[in-house]
Amino acid sequence: MLVTVDGVRWQELFEGPDPLLTRDDAPIFPRFWSEVAPLGRVYGDPTEGHEVRVATSSNASLPGYMSIYAEEPQGCLTNACGRVSVPTFLDRLHDELSMDASQLEVLVAWSKLALATTGRDDVALVRTPEADAAALSDDAYEFDRGAVQHGLEALSARRPRFLHLGLLDSDRYAHQGDYARYLKVLRAYDALLAEISARLDSKTALIVTTDHGRGLWDQWSEHGPQVPASGRVWAYVKLPADAKSLALVEPGARRFDHHDVRYTIETLFGLSTTSTSGFSTGFIAP
Ligand SMILES: [Zn+2]
Repeated sequence: MLVTVDGVRWQELFEGPDPLLTRDDAPIFPRFWSEVAPLGRVYGDPTEGHEVRVATSSNASLPGYMSIYAEEPQGCLTNACGRVSVPTFLDRLHDELSMDASQLEVLVAWSKLALATTGRDDVALVRTPEADAAALSDDAYEFDRGAVQHGLEALSARRPRFLHLGLLDSDRYAHQGDYARYLKVLRAYDALLAEISARLDSKTALIVTTDHGRGLWDQWSEHGPQVPASGRVWAYVKLPADAKSLALVEPGARRFDHHDVRYTIETLFGLSTTSTSGFSTGFIAP
């Protein structure tokens, strides 16, 4: 399972509320750190010497998701670029492992994320679902309501072989400069990640990452090529509990980027990985 949370800074994940932006000093991700992180590894903490970066200089959303799904650069540097035109890992799962579309499910709050997932219509179930009225009581969510509701339903009812839950509200409130609301969304994500992690069976891996970071201090609400700090991202990886032969690379062992998410997913499904920079198994030890 892959969860992406749009534009969540490493600062809030690793350090909590930014004292330059708020007096709120309550933890943001307490359940993630106590219930989820110990089951895997967290990559990208600069204070520990880790480095996870976006794979292009654009520090924007659609290019970030393209880098996660596709190996080859798409020339996609803004959110205005079109649908991915090279094979993605979803295409490989469909074609090489004979998974039909019902087993490959993508639920995204931001409809444009779908452009990055596959260039074909027959490969996966890719949707921007609407929420049922009053299905979710957590008022932290707005655009995420449908994806969260249907994502939890997919986990309990349909159990696809691959599920991507793509969440957006973090980025939306950050762009509005509303730090308190951004923190409220992140705290909802904290509870959601703990719930998802607890629901996964022993055969399922969990990867959580973000499409880009954000700026420092008074640039916190922004990201993009004009905000170099927003090129730093992070990733969490939990291997399947019953995959005793697999191990994760040390977070400080080398520099990672968005493509490592793809290589990790391919390796977990037993696909040989390809890389323009040489053989890679992503966050999994070769
Ligand atoms: Zn984004």
